[in-house]
Amino acid sequence: MPMIPDKPTVSIDIDLIRRNFPVLQTQVHGKPLVYLDNGATTQKPRVVIDKLNELYESKNSSIHRGVHFLSEQMTGEYEHARETVRNFINARNTNEIVFTSGATGSINTVAFSFGEKYVKEGDEIIVSEMEHHSNIVPWQMLCARKKAKLKVIPFDENGELIQNEYKLLFNDKTRLVAITQVSNSLGTVNPVKEMIRFAHDHHVPVLIDGAQAVQHSSVDVQDLDCDFYVFSGHKVFGPTGIGVLYGKEIMLDALPPYQGGGDMVDCVKFEKTTYNELPFKFEAGTMNYTGAIGLGTALEYIGSIGFDAITQHEKSLCAYTHNKLKEIEGLDIYGNAKEKISIFSFLIQGLHPLDTGMILDKMGIALRTGTHCTQPVMDHFQITGTIRASMAFYNSFGDADRLIEGLKKAVSMLK
Ligand code: PMP
Repeated sequence: MPMIPDKPTVSIDIDLIRRNFPVLQTQVHGKPLVYLDNGATTQKPRVVIDKLNELYESKNSSIHRGVHFLSEQMTGEYEHARETVRNFINARNTNEIVFTSGATGSINTVAFSFGEKYVKEGDEIIVSEMEHHSNIVPWQMLCARKKAKLKVIPFDENGELIQNEYKLLFNDKTRLVAITQVSNSLGTVNPVKEMIRFAHDHHVPVLIDGAQAVQHSSVDVQDLDCDFYVFSGHKVFGPTGIGVLYGKEIMLDALPPYQGGGDMVDCVKFEKTTYNELPFKFEAGTMNYTGAIGLGTALEYIGSIGFDAITQHEKSLCAYTHNKLKEIEGLDIYGNAKEKISIFSFLIQGLHPLDTGMILDKMGIALRTGTHCTQPVMDHFQITGTIRASMAFYNSFGDADRLIEGLKKAVSMLK
């Protein structure tokens, strides 16, 4: 973690940005809200809230089904959102962008569909020790269905994946690698591009869980060369209940559909049903079209700020907060990778995380305590949970100061 002397000058107008997020203007227990639970979900800018209102107030209609004005208009907006997502992650083609219910929905789609086609008894799937449960359990379920095996890449004491151990896991039974780009409990940024290259050298496709990555820096799926990439709308300032599955066209084309229903079909006969083309083959039933459009608006909003400014601000905020946390006696940070984002998991000796979280809540500071859906990470450190402060680009240095003040108060009250 680079040492920096004090609050640096940043090229982001943080006050202006914060005014775009109505919830950041609210009070909790009579104190201005400090929102540090962005790893769980992010707040929504005014443009996204207004967009959702506009859709329900004056445009609502089901997509892809009607010839009437409202339906055509909504279909146009939905497909425009798909193009916005394509552009956001630099996919080659909108056929490669499937809307799902979230990162979890996207991973389950691949686990079922890829698993049905390519995984058989004795095959192996590689995940890492720092995965969110969403990127473990669907693969375990697949392994149970197919009598396949789950192999796990371990991480070291800093929370970095051990690359030599990763390489040793490959053999002629390896069918897929599924790893996170950024850990939601350690903040580690994994060297996924290199890991993908290694897997491809062994003819193994790779799924990247980008749920904690897309809100912090720009992602280029063509540059990464991943086969699948997933993320959730609600963690990238968009609505909840919407997510994205990117898959290379050649991969998605070869896979069977995950769910059957309306819209994913071409011709339905009792003798035989044929399926719709990509990406609709993977979008069964009435989709969350308002969510998809709201997500498109969120991504356009991020584009208007730009990742150069976002990344620069977050890097400074990360270094500043890290250094301030280290000043608190008895505070241990879990996750000290060289490349990390502003997610801080920590414990303070002698303090229970839950008590600490409750005291901070009374001070208007929202953070998370527990396992963060990464029980294997907690098992690694032989702890039952941590306190987690996770930041977004709208967090300020003042938020970091309020966190430190709150923690110092908790120490004085509980020790
Ligand atoms: N992967 C990671 C790394 C996550 O942080 C999360 C959510 N905490 C998920 C997957 C699952 O996302 P969702 O609940 O939005 O489907």
